[in-house]
Amino acid sequence: MASVPVYNFAAGPGTMPREVLQQAREELLGWRHSGMSVMEMPFTGGEFQAIQQQAQQDLRELLGMPSDYRILFLQGGASAQFALLPMNLLPHDGRADYLDTGYWSRKAMAEGSRYARIRIAASGATHDYRCIPSQAEWELDPEAGYCHITSNETADGLEYHWLPDTGSVPLVADMTSDFLSRPIAIERFGVIYAGAQKNIGPTGLTIVIVRDDMLHSARPETPSVFNYCVQAESEGRYNTPLTYAIYLAGLMFRWLKRQGGLSAMALRNRCKSERLYEAIDTSQLYVCRSRKEDRSLMNVCFDLTDASLTAEFVAQAQRRGLLHLQGHPARGGVRASLYNAMPEQGVDALIDFMGEFASRHAGQPAASCLSHPR
Ligand SMILES: *Cc1c(COP(=O)(O)O)cnc(C)c1O
Repeated sequence: MASVPVYNFAAGPGTMPREVLQQAREELLGWRHSGMSVMEMPFTGGEFQAIQQQAQQDLRELLGMPSDYRILFLQGGASAQFALLPMNLLPHDGRADYLDTGYWSRKAMAEGSRYARIRIAASGATHDYRCIPSQAEWELDPEAGYCHITSNETADGLEYHWLPDTGSVPLVADMTSDFLSRPIAIERFGVIYAGAQKNIGPTGLTIVIVRDDMLHSARPETPSVFNYCVQAESEGRYNTPLTYAIYLAGLMFRWLKRQGGLSAMALRNRCKSERLYEAIDTSQLYVCRSRKEDRSLMNVCFDLTDASLTAEFVAQAQRRGLLHLQGHPARGGVRASLYNAMPEQGVDALIDFMGEFASRHAGQPAASCLSHPR
């Protein structure tokens, strides 16, 4: 084990709490008194079912979820949902509105448009993807089967800090990178989906939350394993579920409850990101071009005013144990992902490093530009 602490700022798979990994290690060879690893348990048996039900119940409690919503633990990642949303929600000639706010919403649209007629209700392109278009700019189709948003643009560093009003059109959200980072008004959504590997845990697991009245529109050719209704009715055991990933997600839900739940997480996440944005905004070497109101609390994206220093910044940070700070390949620059499991000390260490780097390269005194309350 390295003696210097290491902080993983990767966008995904992302950092997980040490406590959770330690618990998984302790239970790896034998789960409680079962005499076997969770990995070895039959999914139809009582032990695994108890793990699955506990995870569902803890997630419901965390979210304060109304009773007319189902939680599905599916496979295939968020990208699979890009196609499965239209397959599950729209007839063959169905239409849907999408908000184009960055890299991931464009991926969702590109894939979705293979299965439905997709309209862009508003696009961040007109603002060079530096903000989320305000609702006044949206042109919504009242006949659309759903309206899709990406609540946090992982690659662009933009996040909704408000909820749109889509009238009677169900709101659908890709929450992959900010799910469980703050409380969610579930009742405002028809469907929410999130790949687990950003803010919850291991890859492969996709959490889909569906309102009951949206379970019955799947096209007949929708693969049964990906059919929301089939999976809801078989309680997620139509096929072999991701047993170990569900177990790990369950440990994360427990951890979140111990942290004080989603309101407490939201407060901590706000503190962490505010401190980092302040360090960026008060420095001459770093710049964040996103509109302040729309900045992501999860993925802080910024640039060096001298872009030729970016590679050196990332490499030096890496040597200091501040890992994976390079921006998304489509965007470049620097990205610090501050998911739930990133401790405040990690953010402090990053801010200290940024100050030192700035003073080395721009002759800036670190203390004056990077004062941060602790
Ligand atoms: C990472 C990410 C995805 C893709 O997730 P996969 O599980 O790799 O398919 C989709 N949407 C958002 C917002 C993401 O951050």
